[in-house]
Amino acid sequence: MIPYLNLAPSYKRIQKEAEPQILHILSSGQYILGKPVEDCEAKLAEFTGTKHALAVSNGTIALMMALQAIDVGPGDEVIVPSFSFFATAEVVSTLGAIPIFVDVDSKTYNIRVDQIAERINKKTKAIMPVSLYGQIADMDEINSIAEKHGLYVIEDAAQSFGATYKGKRSCSLTHIGCTSFFPAKPLGAAGDGGAVFTSDSTLAKKLDAIRVHGQTGRYYHEYIGVNGRLDPIQCVVLKEKLKYYDEDIRERQKIAKYYNESFRHLDVVIPEVAADRESVFAQYTLAVDRREQFIEKLQKAGVPTSVHYPMGMHEQPVYKHTNVSLPITEALGKKVVSLPLYPGMPEGDIEIVVTAVKSALG
Ligand SMILES: *Cc1c(COP(=O)(O)O)cnc(C)c1O
Repeated sequence: MIPYLNLAPSYKRIQKEAEPQILHILSSGQYILGKPVEDCEAKLAEFTGTKHALAVSNGTIALMMALQAIDVGPGDEVIVPSFSFFATAEVVSTLGAIPIFVDVDSKTYNIRVDQIAERINKKTKAIMPVSLYGQIADMDEINSIAEKHGLYVIEDAAQSFGATYKGKRSCSLTHIGCTSFFPAKPLGAAGDGGAVFTSDSTLAKKLDAIRVHGQTGRYYHEYIGVNGRLDPIQCVVLKEKLKYYDEDIRERQKIAKYYNESFRHLDVVIPEVAADRESVFAQYTLAVDRREQFIEKLQKAGVPTSVHYPMGMHEQPVYKHTNVSLPITEALGKKVVSLPLYPGMPEGDIEIVVTAVKSALG
Protein backbone atom coordinates (compact mmCIF):
# COMPACT_ATOMS: atom_id res chain seq x y z
CA MET A 1 0.00 0.00 0.00
CA ILE A 2 1.39 3.45 -0.85
CA PRO A 3 0.88 6.05 1.90
CA TYR A 4 -2.09 8.41 1.75
CA LEU A 5 0.10 11.09 3.24
CA ASN A 6 3.73 11.28 4.35
CA LEU A 7 4.67 14.27 6.46
CA ALA A 8 8.31 13.30 7.05
CA PRO A 9 9.81 14.83 3.85
CA SER A 10 8.54 18.29 4.67
CA TYR A 11 9.98 18.12 8.18
CA LYS A 12 13.37 16.88 6.94
CA ARG A 13 13.64 20.05 4.85
CA ILE A 14 13.42 22.31 7.91
CA GLN A 15 15.11 20.04 10.43
CA LYS A 16 18.53 21.75 10.38
CA GLU A 17 17.05 25.22 10.82
CA ALA A 18 14.27 24.29 13.26
CA GLU A 19 15.96 21.98 15.77
CA PRO A 20 18.47 24.45 17.25
CA GLN A 21 15.61 26.91 17.77
CA ILE A 22 13.46 24.23 19.39
CA LEU A 23 16.29 23.14 21.67
CA HIS A 24 16.88 26.77 22.59
CA ILE A 25 13.24 27.10 23.64
CA LEU A 26 13.48 23.91 25.69
CA SER A 27 16.58 25.11 27.55
CA SER A 28 15.36 28.70 27.91
CA GLY A 29 12.38 27.80 30.09
CA GLN A 30 10.17 30.27 28.14
CA TYR A 31 7.39 27.97 27.05
CA ILE A 32 4.36 30.26 26.66
CA LEU A 33 3.97 33.01 24.01
CA GLY A 34 7.08 35.19 23.61
CA LYS A 35 9.25 36.05 20.61
CA PRO A 36 8.97 32.78 18.60
CA VAL A 37 5.18 33.18 18.64
CA GLU A 38 5.34 36.87 17.68
CA ASP A 39 7.82 36.15 14.85
CA CYS A 40 5.60 33.42 13.49
CA GLU A 41 2.52 35.64 13.67
CA ALA A 42 4.27 38.45 11.80
CA LYS A 43 5.19 36.03 8.99
CA LEU A 44 1.70 34.55 8.85
CA ALA A 45 0.12 38.01 8.64
CA GLU A 46 2.54 39.05 5.91
CA PHE A 47 1.91 35.87 3.94
CA THR A 48 -1.87 36.27 4.00
CA GLY A 49 -1.89 40.04 3.51
CA THR A 50 -3.69 40.72 6.79
CA LYS A 51 -2.76 43.21 9.50
CA HIS A 52 -3.08 40.85 12.44
CA ALA A 53 -2.42 37.13 12.89
CA LEU A 54 -2.93 35.28 16.13
CA ALA A 55 -1.42 31.81 16.58
CA VAL A 56 -3.84 29.58 18.45
CA SER A 57 -3.96 25.99 19.65
CA ASN A 58 -6.08 24.52 16.82
CA GLY A 59 -8.46 25.39 14.01
CA THR A 60 -11.57 24.63 16.04
CA ILE A 61 -10.64 27.10 18.77
CA ALA A 62 -9.77 29.64 16.03
CA LEU A 63 -13.35 29.43 14.73
CA MET A 64 -14.81 29.60 18.21
CA MET A 65 -12.73 32.63 19.14
CA ALA A 66 -13.86 34.38 15.95
CA LEU A 67 -17.49 33.82 16.95
CA GLN A 68 -16.77 35.00 20.50
CA ALA A 69 -15.13 38.15 19.13
CA ILE A 70 -18.35 39.09 17.33
CA ASP A 71 -20.45 38.19 20.41
CA VAL A 72 -22.24 35.14 19.03
CA GLY A 73 -24.26 33.58 21.82
CA PRO A 74 -27.54 31.88 22.74
CA GLY A 75 -30.36 32.59 20.30
CA ASP A 76 -28.07 33.80 17.51
CA GLU A 77 -27.92 32.06 14.15
CA VAL A 78 -24.88 31.46 11.99
CA ILE A 79 -25.25 30.30 8.38
CA VAL A 80 -22.89 27.46 7.43
CA PRO A 81 -22.58 25.04 4.52
CA SER A 82 -23.64 21.56 5.60
CA PHE A 83 -20.90 19.88 3.58
CA SER A 84 -17.88 20.45 5.81
CA PHE A 85 -15.88 19.03 8.68
CA PHE A 86 -18.02 18.89 11.81
CA ALA A 87 -16.10 21.64 13.66
CA THR A 88 -17.65 24.36 11.46
CA ALA A 89 -21.08 23.86 13.02
CA GLU A 90 -19.89 22.47 16.34
CA VAL A 91 -18.35 25.76 17.48
CA VAL A 92 -21.64 27.57 16.81
CA SER A 93 -23.47 25.09 19.02
CA THR A 94 -20.78 25.19 21.70
CA LEU A 95 -21.57 28.88 22.17
CA GLY A 96 -25.28 28.15 22.46
CA ALA A 97 -26.06 29.59 19.03
CA ILE A 98 -27.74 27.76 16.15
CA PRO A 99 -26.02 26.64 12.96
CA ILE A 100 -28.27 27.16 9.95
CA PHE A 101 -27.34 24.62 7.31
CA VAL A 102 -27.45 25.47 3.62
CA ASP A 103 -26.50 23.40 0.59
CA VAL A 104 -23.35 23.60 -1.53
CA ASP A 105 -22.71 24.26 -5.19
CA SER A 106 -22.62 21.11 -7.31
CA LYS A 107 -19.36 22.13 -9.03
CA THR A 108 -17.19 23.75 -6.35
CA TYR A 109 -18.76 22.03 -3.30
CA ASN A 110 -18.66 25.40 -1.55
CA ILE A 111 -21.63 27.21 0.03
CA ARG A 112 -24.52 28.01 -2.34
CA VAL A 113 -24.77 31.77 -2.36
CA ASP A 114 -28.38 31.76 -3.61
CA GLN A 115 -29.49 29.95 -0.44
CA ILE A 116 -27.86 32.35 2.01
CA ALA A 117 -30.23 35.32 1.67
CA GLU A 118 -33.28 33.03 2.09
CA ARG A 119 -32.09 31.96 5.52
CA ILE A 120 -31.29 35.41 6.93
CA ASN A 121 -33.57 36.79 9.65
CA LYS A 122 -33.34 38.98 12.75
CA LYS A 123 -31.39 36.33 14.65
CA THR A 124 -28.71 35.91 12.00
CA LYS A 125 -25.35 37.14 13.20
CA ALA A 126 -22.82 35.80 10.73
CA ILE A 127 -22.14 33.77 7.62
CA MET A 128 -19.35 31.23 7.91
CA PRO A 129 -18.34 29.99 4.45
CA VAL A 130 -15.89 27.10 4.28
CA SER A 131 -13.20 27.14 1.61
CA LEU A 132 -13.46 23.41 1.06
CA TYR A 133 -10.66 21.17 -0.22
CA GLY A 134 -8.47 24.26 -0.66
CA GLN A 135 -10.66 26.40 -2.90
CA ILE A 136 -12.00 29.73 -1.60
CA ALA A 137 -15.81 30.17 -1.55
CA ASP A 138 -17.61 32.94 -3.54
CA MET A 139 -16.43 35.71 -1.21
CA ASP A 140 -17.46 38.81 -3.19
CA GLU A 141 -21.07 37.62 -3.37
CA ILE A 142 -21.06 36.48 0.27
CA ASN A 143 -19.52 39.75 1.49
CA SER A 144 -22.07 41.79 -0.42
CA ILE A 145 -25.01 39.85 1.07
CA ALA A 146 -23.46 40.28 4.52
CA GLU A 147 -22.95 43.99 4.04
CA LYS A 148 -26.54 44.45 2.93
CA HIS A 149 -27.82 42.74 6.10
CA GLY A 150 -25.18 44.00 8.53
CA LEU A 151 -23.67 40.55 9.17
CA TYR A 152 -20.15 39.37 9.84
CA VAL A 153 -18.36 36.95 7.53
CA ILE A 154 -15.90 34.45 9.01
CA GLU A 155 -13.96 32.29 6.57
CA ASP A 156 -13.36 28.73 7.71
CA ALA A 157 -10.05 28.51 5.90
CA ALA A 158 -8.86 25.36 7.67
CA GLN A 159 -8.30 23.73 4.26
CA SER A 160 -7.39 26.75 2.16
CA PHE A 161 -4.39 28.46 3.77
CA GLY A 162 -2.42 29.99 0.90
CA ALA A 163 -5.22 29.71 -1.68
CA THR A 164 -6.02 32.82 -3.72
CA TYR A 165 -9.19 34.57 -4.85
CA LYS A 166 -8.76 37.32 -7.44
CA GLY A 167 -5.13 37.49 -6.39
CA LYS A 168 -5.81 37.82 -2.66
CA ARG A 169 -4.99 35.14 -0.12
CA SER A 170 -7.40 33.08 1.90
CA CYS A 171 -7.92 34.47 5.44
CA SER A 172 -7.71 38.09 4.17
CA LEU A 173 -11.07 38.28 2.41
CA THR A 174 -13.55 38.54 5.29
CA HIS A 175 -13.87 40.23 8.70
CA ILE A 176 -12.08 37.28 10.28
CA GLY A 177 -10.33 34.30 8.69
CA CYS A 178 -9.52 31.11 10.61
CA THR A 179 -7.16 28.34 9.67
CA SER A 180 -5.84 25.07 11.05
CA PHE A 181 -2.26 23.82 11.16
CA PHE A 182 -3.29 20.24 12.00
CA PRO A 183 -0.41 18.17 10.56
CA ALA A 184 -2.44 16.88 7.60
CA LYS A 185 -3.59 20.35 6.49
CA PRO A 186 -1.70 22.06 3.66
CA LEU A 187 0.51 23.97 6.13
CA GLY A 188 0.88 21.57 9.03
CA ALA A 189 2.58 21.98 12.40
CA ALA A 190 4.19 19.11 14.31
CA GLY A 191 0.99 18.73 16.30
CA ASP A 192 -2.18 20.76 16.68
CA GLY A 193 -2.21 24.43 15.75
CA GLY A 194 -4.27 27.14 14.12
CA ALA A 195 -4.52 30.87 13.53
CA VAL A 196 -7.02 33.72 13.44
CA PHE A 197 -6.56 36.60 10.99
CA THR A 198 -8.14 40.03 10.75
CA SER A 199 -7.27 43.49 9.47
CA ASP A 200 -9.68 45.13 11.93
CA SER A 201 -7.62 46.43 14.86
CA THR A 202 -10.56 46.47 17.28
CA LEU A 203 -11.37 42.82 16.56
CA ALA A 204 -7.66 41.95 16.77
CA LYS A 205 -7.39 43.44 20.24
CA LYS A 206 -10.46 41.58 21.41
CA LEU A 207 -9.24 38.30 19.89
CA ASP A 208 -5.90 38.75 21.65
CA ALA A 209 -7.78 39.02 24.96
CA ILE A 210 -10.08 36.10 24.14
CA ARG A 211 -7.04 33.88 23.52
CA VAL A 212 -6.14 34.31 27.22
CA HIS A 213 -9.48 34.02 29.03
CA GLY A 214 -10.75 37.41 27.88
CA GLN A 215 -8.03 39.02 29.96
CA THR A 216 -7.16 42.66 29.15
CA GLY A 217 -4.90 43.17 32.15
CA ARG A 218 -3.39 40.73 34.62
CA TYR A 219 -6.34 38.89 36.21
CA TYR A 220 -8.69 41.50 34.74
CA HIS A 221 -11.29 39.95 32.43
CA GLU A 222 -13.42 42.02 30.06
CA TYR A 223 -14.73 39.07 28.06
CA ILE A 224 -15.43 35.37 28.27
CA GLY A 225 -12.53 33.78 26.46
CA VAL A 226 -10.63 30.50 26.23
CA ASN A 227 -7.13 29.18 26.68
CA GLY A 228 -6.23 29.26 22.99
CA ARG A 229 -2.47 29.82 22.95
CA LEU A 230 -0.12 28.06 20.55
CA ASP A 231 3.22 27.03 21.99
CA PRO A 232 6.49 28.51 20.69
CA ILE A 233 7.83 25.14 19.51
CA GLN A 234 4.98 24.78 17.02
CA CYS A 235 5.54 28.38 15.97
CA VAL A 236 9.15 27.58 15.04
CA VAL A 237 8.02 24.66 12.90
CA LEU A 238 5.39 26.81 11.17
CA LYS A 239 7.72 29.76 10.60
CA GLU A 240 10.32 27.46 9.00
CA LYS A 241 7.78 25.53 6.92
CA LEU A 242 6.28 28.77 5.67
CA LYS A 243 9.55 29.49 3.83
CA TYR A 244 8.86 26.54 1.55
CA TYR A 245 5.11 26.88 1.44
CA ASP A 246 4.79 28.54 -1.97
CA GLU A 247 6.86 25.67 -3.38
CA ASP A 248 4.59 23.16 -1.62
CA ILE A 249 1.50 24.80 -3.08
CA ARG A 250 2.93 24.68 -6.60
CA GLU A 251 3.74 21.00 -6.15
CA ARG A 252 0.22 20.25 -4.92
CA GLN A 253 -1.20 22.10 -7.93
CA LYS A 254 1.11 20.25 -10.31
CA ILE A 255 0.02 16.83 -9.04
CA ALA A 256 -3.65 17.89 -9.13
CA LYS A 257 -3.26 19.10 -12.72
CA TYR A 258 -1.68 15.81 -13.72
CA TYR A 259 -4.48 13.85 -12.04
CA ASN A 260 -7.07 16.05 -13.79
CA GLU A 261 -5.48 15.48 -17.20
CA SER A 262 -5.27 11.75 -16.57
CA PHE A 263 -8.90 11.39 -15.40
CA ARG A 264 -10.64 13.96 -17.62
CA HIS A 265 -12.08 11.38 -20.01
CA LEU A 266 -13.10 8.85 -17.38
CA ASP A 267 -16.59 8.41 -15.94
CA VAL A 268 -15.82 10.53 -12.90
CA VAL A 269 -16.20 14.16 -11.79
CA ILE A 270 -12.82 15.83 -11.38
CA PRO A 271 -12.32 18.86 -9.12
CA GLU A 272 -13.25 22.15 -10.72
CA VAL A 273 -11.49 25.34 -9.69
CA ALA A 274 -13.05 28.69 -10.69
CA ALA A 275 -11.00 30.79 -13.14
CA ASP A 276 -10.42 33.59 -10.62
CA ARG A 277 -9.09 31.24 -7.92
CA GLU A 278 -6.13 29.00 -7.13
CA SER A 279 -6.74 25.98 -4.92
CA VAL A 280 -4.12 24.58 -2.56
CA PHE A 281 -5.68 21.10 -2.92
CA ALA A 282 -5.89 20.22 0.74
CA GLN A 283 -7.72 17.26 -0.75
CA TYR A 284 -7.85 16.01 -4.32
CA THR A 285 -11.41 14.77 -4.44
CA LEU A 286 -13.31 12.92 -7.14
CA ALA A 287 -17.04 12.23 -7.26
CA VAL A 288 -17.86 8.73 -8.48
CA ASP A 289 -20.92 6.53 -8.68
CA ARG A 290 -20.67 3.17 -6.91
CA ARG A 291 -17.99 4.62 -4.65
CA GLU A 292 -17.59 1.57 -2.43
CA GLN A 293 -16.62 -0.61 -5.41
CA PHE A 294 -14.22 2.07 -6.61
CA ILE A 295 -12.56 2.28 -3.17
CA GLU A 296 -12.24 -1.49 -3.03
CA LYS A 297 -10.59 -1.68 -6.46
CA LEU A 298 -8.10 1.01 -5.49
CA GLN A 299 -7.42 -0.74 -2.21
CA LYS A 300 -6.58 -3.95 -4.13
CA ALA A 301 -4.20 -1.92 -6.31
CA GLY A 302 -2.47 -0.62 -3.17
CA VAL A 303 -3.98 2.86 -3.22
CA PRO A 304 -5.55 4.21 -0.02
CA THR A 305 -8.42 6.68 -0.21
CA SER A 306 -10.34 8.83 2.21
CA VAL A 307 -13.91 10.19 2.30
CA HIS A 308 -14.44 13.86 3.19
CA TYR A 309 -17.28 13.66 4.21
CA PRO A 310 -19.64 10.69 4.21
CA MET A 311 -22.61 12.86 5.16
CA GLY A 312 -23.68 16.46 5.59
CA MET A 313 -23.59 17.90 9.09
CA HIS A 314 -27.39 18.23 8.94
CA GLU A 315 -27.52 14.41 8.59
CA GLN A 316 -25.41 13.80 11.71
CA PRO A 317 -27.34 12.31 14.64
CA VAL A 318 -26.82 15.41 16.76
CA TYR A 319 -28.26 17.74 14.09
CA LYS A 320 -30.93 15.46 12.58
CA HIS A 321 -33.64 17.41 14.37
CA THR A 322 -32.96 20.40 12.11
CA ASN A 323 -34.93 18.43 9.54
CA VAL A 324 -33.66 20.18 6.44
CA SER A 325 -33.19 18.58 3.08
CA LEU A 326 -30.02 19.56 1.20
CA PRO A 327 -29.92 17.34 -1.88
CA ILE A 328 -26.48 18.24 -3.24
CA THR A 329 -24.77 17.71 0.12
CA GLU A 330 -26.63 14.43 0.59
CA ALA A 331 -25.61 13.19 -2.87
CA LEU A 332 -21.97 14.25 -2.46
CA GLY A 333 -21.76 12.33 0.80
CA LYS A 334 -22.29 9.17 -1.20
CA LYS A 335 -19.93 10.04 -4.08
CA VAL A 336 -16.83 11.90 -2.94
CA VAL A 337 -13.51 10.16 -2.52
CA SER A 338 -10.07 11.71 -2.04
CA LEU A 339 -6.77 10.42 -3.44
CA PRO A 340 -3.23 10.63 -2.07
CA LEU A 341 -1.62 14.01 -2.84
CA TYR A 342 1.15 15.74 -0.86
CA PRO A 343 4.39 17.62 -1.49
CA GLY A 344 7.27 15.17 -1.79
CA MET A 345 4.97 12.40 -3.06
CA PRO A 346 7.21 10.05 -5.10
CA GLU A 347 6.53 10.11 -8.86
CA GLY A 348 6.22 6.33 -8.78
CA ASP A 349 3.36 6.62 -6.28
CA ILE A 350 1.61 9.23 -8.43
CA GLU A 351 1.77 6.80 -11.37
CA ILE A 352 0.42 3.98 -9.19
CA VAL A 353 -2.59 6.18 -8.33
CA VAL A 354 -3.21 7.14 -11.97
CA THR A 355 -2.96 3.56 -13.21
CA ALA A 356 -5.23 2.27 -10.43
CA VAL A 357 -7.92 4.92 -11.05
CA LYS A 358 -7.87 4.34 -14.82
CA SER A 359 -8.17 0.61 -14.39
CA ALA A 360 -10.89 0.89 -11.74
CA LEU A 361 -13.02 3.04 -14.05
CA GLY A 362 -11.97 1.45 -17.35
C1 LIG B 1 -9.63 20.66 10.09
C2 LIG B 1 -10.81 21.52 10.01
C3 LIG B 1 -11.28 22.26 11.12
C4 LIG B 1 -10.73 22.09 12.51
O1 LIG B 1 -9.35 22.28 12.64
P1 LIG B 1 -8.59 21.56 13.87
O2 LIG B 1 -7.23 22.20 13.83
O3 LIG B 1 -8.55 20.11 13.59
O4 LIG B 1 -9.31 21.90 15.11
C5 LIG B 1 -12.34 23.12 10.93
N1 LIG B 1 -12.95 23.25 9.74
C6 LIG B 1 -12.55 22.55 8.66
C7 LIG B 1 -13.25 22.77 7.37
C8 LIG B 1 -11.47 21.65 8.75
O5 LIG B 1 -11.10 20.97 7.69
